[in-house]
Amino acid sequence: MSRLEDKDKAARRRKKDKALAKTRTKIAKSMYKFTPDSPNRYTKRHALGCSNSRCYLCHGNKLLKKDTLQEKREKQKDKFDN
Ligand SMILES: [Zn+2]
Repeated sequence: MSRLEDKDKAARRRKKDKALAKTRTKIAKSMYKFTPDSPNRYTKRHALGCSNSRCYLCHGNKLLKKDTLQEKREKQKDKFDN
């Protein structure tokens, strides 16, 4: 990849992260009436998550190895194709 493409990709990523942080800040404001000091507080973590990767409340589907929506959809598709 050329240098220009790399720069473009990074710029797009930064824009996406900023938009995500803005959305999560909005969620935090509406749920907890909390305004973060830093605008980048929610770039890497969700406003409603507890940041514990082994938490069964936040990551129950992942930890219990339940099917995702996409996997459920695929299974249903296979069932009706036959
Ligand atoms: Zn949690």
